Amino acid sequence: MLAIFAISLITFQTEHPQKERLYHAEKLLVDEDPKVKVIPFAEIPQYVDKIYSDPWFKERYKNPQKPIIEKGKFGNNGYSTGNRIGFPPVATNIVILHEIAHQLTPKGMHGPKFARVLVDLVWKFMGQDSADRLRKIYLKQDVNWLQKPNGN
Ligand SMILES: [Zn+2]
Repeated sequence: MLAIFAISLITFQTEHPQKERLYHAEKLLVDEDPKVKVIPFAEIPQYVDKIYSDPWFKERYKNPQKPIIEKGKFGNNGYSTGNRIGFPPVATNIVILHEIAHQLTPKGMHGPKFARVLVDLVWKFMGQDSADRLRKIYLKQDVNWLQKPNGN
């Protein structure tokens, strides 16, 4: 479901050492959070549009360019490369937010800044409970995230 294989294929950047722990943390969130939704590919562009037109989002991330959404080429994995995001036939809202977090931190590669952006997106687009859960899981799984506000 997550982009472990795809990302390593299509990027030349060095992965952050906490990548596997971050993936595991997301998997735990998917397992326990009732706000996790499965979204069919046909509805993903609309979901992404909504996020990119959100006033909070636009201000916080300095009006980022909306990515092109394409049908994924890597089975059940999502991926983000340049200004494109590929999604599988169905994806959870977590996977969508994960790939958007890549767009917002092109050099973050699952490091602390990426982890922080993901929490912020989860907070804004899934809710406080989900963000609290994710932070708790990060702590347990030893995932570091940038803790100061506006850290990007
Ligand atoms: Zn990723």
